[in-house]
Amino acid sequence: MPFTIQKTDAEWQAILQAKGAEAVAYQVTRHAATERPFTGKYEAHRGDGSYHCICCDAKLFDADTKFNAHCGWPSFSQAVPGSISEITDRSLGMARVETVCAQCGAHLGHVFDDGPAPTGLRYCMNSASLNYTPT
Ligand SMILES: [Zn+2]
Repeated sequence: MPFTIQKTDAEWQAILQAKGAEAVAYQVTRHAATERPFTGKYEAHRGDGSYHCICCDAKLFDADTKFNAHCGWPSFSQAVPGSISEITDRSLGMARVETVCAQCGAHLGHVFDDGPAPTGLRYCMNSASLNYTPT
């Protein structure tokens, strides 16, 4: 899949380390791991601002689309248009929609159709894939 930003695994590891990203961030973003529920630093995080890709800094979500889904991961009802690519994920014996950063391909989480109105979407994200920036 062609992403605008292409780097080697070693380059991503160095970038994430330099940013002080969480230890799991590399496995989550580059190898589609999932952080354990209720462990992520943004799960219950509140505040105005925006959430960006931990790898390439692309803006993914406005903080006012974040809601508490009680699922153990930070959840959003709407992504910044064009910021996220969707991939059908058939692992675990079910079809889910994986979400990746449209710019660098970082694994973010999955999107489900049981979110609140008006979008009806629930972007279930890994905290480790995100970087919060206050306004
Ligand atoms: Zn990215």
